[in-house]
Amino acid sequence: MAASGTNSRPGSGVRAEYNATTVGKTLVTPDLMILRVRTDEPRSEFEAGQYTVLGMYGSEPRSPNSVAEADPAPPDKLIRRPYSIASTRTETQQFEFYISQVKSGQLTPRLFNLEMEGRLFVSKRIVGVFTLADTPPGCDVVMVATGTGMAPYVSFLRSHITERSGSKLAVIQGAAHSWDLGFYSELNFLASAFSNFHYLPTVTNGDKTWAGHRKWIEEILHEGTLQQETGIVMDPDRTHFFLCGNPKMVENVSALLADRGYTRHRRRSPGSLHIEEFR
Ligand SMILES: Cc1cc2nc3c(=O)[nH]c(=O)nc-3n(C[C@H](O)[C@H](O)[C@H](O)COP(=O)(O)OP(=O)(O)OC[C@H]3O[C@@H](n4cnc5c(N)ncnc54)[C@H](O)[C@@H]3O)c2cc1C
Repeated sequence: MAASGTNSRPGSGVRAEYNATTVGKTLVTPDLMILRVRTDEPRSEFEAGQYTVLGMYGSEPRSPNSVAEADPAPPDKLIRRPYSIASTRTETQQFEFYISQVKSGQLTPRLFNLEMEGRLFVSKRIVGVFTLADTPPGCDVVMVATGTGMAPYVSFLRSHITERSGSKLAVIQGAAHSWDLGFYSELNFLASAFSNFHYLPTVTNGDKTWAGHRKWIEEILHEGTLQQETGIVMDPDRTHFFLCGNPKMVENVSALLADRGYTRHRRRSPGSLHIEEFR
């Protein structure tokens, strides 16, 4: 049933464009959240890794731990931004997003201020080419992420892990601290349940309780850790790489892979290196 959108919670003002309701919000850290929304009307099935657009009005309140807007949004403007969907591809009405708060940004402090049942806009279109569609079924797939760059991979895995039993899949997730590793439990569970899936979290500022890698993602690749732990080789004919996250990580890893013969995948010139940029 469609929500009425007439309650008085933050983000729930009566706005014709608002067409979705907040049904879940998990703060991974104060500035990193998993947001679940239910659209009033179902969407079409989508491809894992695609994105849609979320929106809220400039008149909506901002989160208490944000700062003044660098570029203030007019109150009557619907602020829209694209976000990757973390849900499985067959989900048509309830969607999960993994969002980082840009404290001086226009939209994210308003999204962070949403409470349960708060209303917002979700585009009817789901688009994007950062998908597994152009990876041959037998190839190995390495997914490299920092921060919210994990969102499309969570969708990949939730949608396709059972279909790819004939190839190896790996996630290399980098963060400053272990508590910044969103979806850590789900990824560890998948690694224990599927012998062809390998999870390599790495933190640069781990405290003494962190037993995992403490390397930069670039080192994991350069020093051969990926191959030693998973058997996956950096060969563009056998392994496709996906990169999403911090622009410097994407630049460095792209350069490292270019040295191994990788070229960026584009519709007209297929390659084995797939990149999603969040800005
Ligand atoms: C295809 C695509 C998918 C995306 N998916 C996600 C996603 O899954 N999760 C997610 O959190 N974001 C995602 N983004 C980024 C998102 O669309 C917004 O740009 C981001 O949330 C900032 O919005 P804002 O209105 O709060 O900040 P704005 O008001 O737009 O930005 C203010 C300033 O902050 C800087 N800025 C913008 N983005 C970031 C950032 N991520 N980190 C630090 N500084 C930034 C910019 O320089 C800008 O000048 C995606 C972007 C694209 C293009």
